[in-house]
Amino acid sequence: MRRMQEMKYPQITLKKGREAAIRRGHPWVFSGSIAAISGDPAAGDIVFILDCRGQPLALGFFNPRTDIALRVLTENCEKNIDAGFWLERLRAALGLRRRIINARTNAYRLINADGDGFPGLIVDVYDLVLVISITTAGMEKQRKNIVGALVNLLAPSAIYEKSAGKSRRQEGLDETSGFIFGREEKGDLLIMENGHKFVVDFVGGQKTGFFLDQRVNREKLGALSSDAQILNCFSYTGAFSVYCCAGGAKKVVSLDISKSAGEYAVRNLQLNGFSEKQHPVIEADAFGYLRSQMELYDMIILDPPAFAKAKGDVNKASRGYKDINLQAVRRLKRGGLLATFSCSNFIEEDLFNKIVLSAARDAHADVKILARLEAGSDHPVSLGHPEGRYLKGLLLCKYDGRLDLK
Ligand code: SAH
Repeated sequence: MRRMQEMKYPQITLKKGREAAIRRGHPWVFSGSIAAISGDPAAGDIVFILDCRGQPLALGFFNPRTDIALRVLTENCEKNIDAGFWLERLRAALGLRRRIINARTNAYRLINADGDGFPGLIVDVYDLVLVISITTAGMEKQRKNIVGALVNLLAPSAIYEKSAGKSRRQEGLDETSGFIFGREEKGDLLIMENGHKFVVDFVGGQKTGFFLDQRVNREKLGALSSDAQILNCFSYTGAFSVYCCAGGAKKVVSLDISKSAGEYAVRNLQLNGFSEKQHPVIEADAFGYLRSQMELYDMIILDPPAFAKAKGDVNKASRGYKDINLQAVRRLKRGGLLATFSCSNFIEEDLFNKIVLSAARDAHADVKILARLEAGSDHPVSLGHPEGRYLKGLLLCKYDGRLDLK
C-alpha cells in the first residue's frame, strides 16, 4: 500500500526534528523545514510528507511560492484525496453545524478553513445561498470536488465565490468573484440570526457579507443591554445594535465610516421594529468621533477591522487599538461595559490585553475582565493551531472595587 501511495503523490522530506509540529497537530510546515523534494510537484499539488528517515507523516498541499510550503490534509497516509474525501469532510462539518446552530438561525460558517480540515477554504451559509472563498493553490485545484460536494449535500440555490486578498496573490492566484453555481441574483438576501432579521449584501458587502463570527458575542451583549445607552463603533450593518435594541437598550448609537454600511444598519434596525430616530446611525470616523464627544455611555462596543494585515503593521496597529480603547474608556460611565475586539491574526492575545490595559491606565480607569470573547462555535479551531484563533475580545467593566470598600 505504501509503495503505491508513494508513487501516487510526489514526496517531500523534512529536515531532522521538523516533524514535531505536525506531531503536535499543527497543520502548517514552513519552507525552511524542507530537506528534499522528489517527483517535481507544482503549486497546489498533493504531496506525501515524510520525516527525515523517510517515515510517512501526512498528506498535504504543497506550494513552492509561499512561506507556508505544506498544509496538512490528513495524517492518514493511506487516504486518497478525491471527491469522496471532501464529501466525507463536508458531511462531518455539516453534522457539527447541525448540533450547534439553532432553528432560529439560518446563517452560519459551514467551513472554517484548517479548523474543518479544508486549508484555504471558507464557506458561509446564508439560508439557501453559499458564499465561498478560496485562498490557497491547493484548494484551488480541488475546486471541482468542493463545489460538487456542496451541491450534493446542501442543494443550494446559488454559490457565490469571493476569493480575494493578499494571501491569494501570495499563492500565485488571481482574485476572482462571481456566481459559480445556480441562480444569479443581486446581493441582497434576508437571513435570520437567533430570530433577528438581517439583509446581507454578499456581493457588495465586506468579506462574505456578514460577520458571522460575532453571533455569540452579539447574544452576550444583547443580554446586558436592558435600559442602557450604548455606542456601537464600527457597526457595519448594525448587527450588534439590533441585538442591543432587542435586549431593551434605551438608545443605541451605531457608528461606521462607510455610508452604505450605515444604510444597511438603518434597514436592519427597521426590519426588527426599531426606529432610527431613537437609535441613530452615524457616518463618521470612530477615532475623531470618540474624541469629539462628551456623552457618557453604559456600554461601548469596539469591533474595528484588522488594523494589522501583516507582521510589519503590528506597531502602527497597536497604536490604533490603544487610541480607540483609551477614548472609549473615557466615554464610559462608572460601572459601564466595554466590549473590545481585535480580528487581526498578527495581534496576539497577550499583546491585545497589554494594549487595552495600557489604554485603561492612561485613562486613569480600573477595568475588570468580565469575560474573554472569541468567535462562535461554528468557527472551530484546532487546539494545535493557535493561529486559527484570529478573533479575540474582552468584556470589561469600568469598575474600581476599592473605591466602594468603605
Ligand atoms: N461589528 C460589525 C462588524 C465590523 S467590521 C458586525 O458585527 O457586523 C468593521 C467595520 O469598521 C466596517 O464596517 C468598516 O466600514 C468600519 N470602519 C473602518 N474604519 C473605520 C473608522 N475609522 N471609523 C469607523 N468605522 C470604520
